[in-house]
Amino acid sequence: MNLKHLTDQTLLADTKSLVRQEHALLAKILWHLKEVDGRRLYSELKYGSLFDYCTKELGYSESSAQRRIIAARALAQFPEIAPKIESGTLTLATVALVVSEFKDPAEKREMFIKVEGLSRTKAVALIDEIKDRPKTYTVTMDEETFKLWQEMQQLGIDLKKVVAQAKKTKLNTPSKRAVFQRDQVCQQCGSIHRLEFDHRKPKGLGGDNTPANLRVLCRSCNQRKGIAAGLIRSGGGGALNRK
Ligand SMILES: [Zn+2]
Repeated sequence: MNLKHLTDQTLLADTKSLVRQEHALLAKILWHLKEVDGRRLYSELKYGSLFDYCTKELGYSESSAQRRIIAARALAQFPEIAPKIESGTLTLATVALVVSEFKDPAEKREMFIKVEGLSRTKAVALIDEIKDRPKTYTVTMDEETFKLWQEMQQLGIDLKKVVAQAKKTKLNTPSKRAVFQRDQVCQQCGSIHRLEFDHRKPKGLGGDNTPANLRVLCRSCNQRKGIAAGLIRSGGGGALNRK
């Protein structure tokens, strides 16, 4: 499928429309799985469980099958979540989370309302808060950095000092430090991940390193700027980090 001929506007509109259809289809599939489950129809096909049917007959991965089965059974018990799955405000991940964290049906029902519209990460944070658990932090790093981090922990190195040093060498020019203090987050999308400095007027066109010409952008927004200006070819993937 080649979509290169689409305008940016059409591409965005089509993507949104397809995702809407995907959510509606997902809800339909869950209703069907619930019914197959109720009739134990997988047994007719010589599968010992709905899970076997989902992975071997339907070709879902184990984790995809697991999430769908949990959601299909939640749907059987709490039909009121169907429109939320259909509209995409309740995801398979948050449904599975609520089911695994709460045993009491009344609590589950209440939580399905509370986590509506939340990402899995935000739902985890909310549940931690409700259950009065210590806060957990998710930090994304590449494998090399992770190994280094583990080594430093084992050696008992003060991580605060390392971070301070990394910042010092990276932001050694006074203007960049000032820009970072001023902007703090991506000036396009508000992300705090993979931040970079962007020259509003490119260096090649005479742009300088003064704070007025510098701003903080995340990697994806910086790349988008290049693609929109025709300086970078589109393709490949941007950052997966959420804001
Ligand atoms: Zn950004």
